[in-house]
Amino acid sequence: MEADFGTHLLRSEGLWIMTSYINHSCVPNVNRSFIGDFQIVRATRDMAEDTELKWSYLAPMYCNFEGIGRELARWHINCDCAICTENRSLSEPTKKQRIKFLSDLTAAIADPKIVDCERVE
Ligand SMILES: [Zn+2]
Repeated sequence: MEADFGTHLLRSEGLWIMTSYINHSCVPNVNRSFIGDFQIVRATRDMAEDTELKWSYLAPMYCNFEGIGRELARWHINCDCAICTENRSLSEPTKKQRIKFLSDLTAAIADPKIVDCERVE
């Protein structure tokens, strides 16, 4: 795993046997971070005992309506989270409408002329 935060290149490599058993969910209940070759897995919410730990296999850039389905299919993952379950049940016109809404929203956020928010003190 490698991340470039400006001028600081962070890199972790290793084989973490126990955490390799953690399955995917688009709505994860754990996140992970690294300090050198030490992996830290932390719960994102309170969980009942024996709850299966799940984290997202997807990079944040794929966590949108189109990207989730495409990336999970590539890895032959049939995710049972609420997002994927909902996506599979949608009609084609509804899917196209949501993709259009997401595209419009992404463009609006990227355009400083459209999103002109004053700072709230
Ligand atoms: Zn999912």
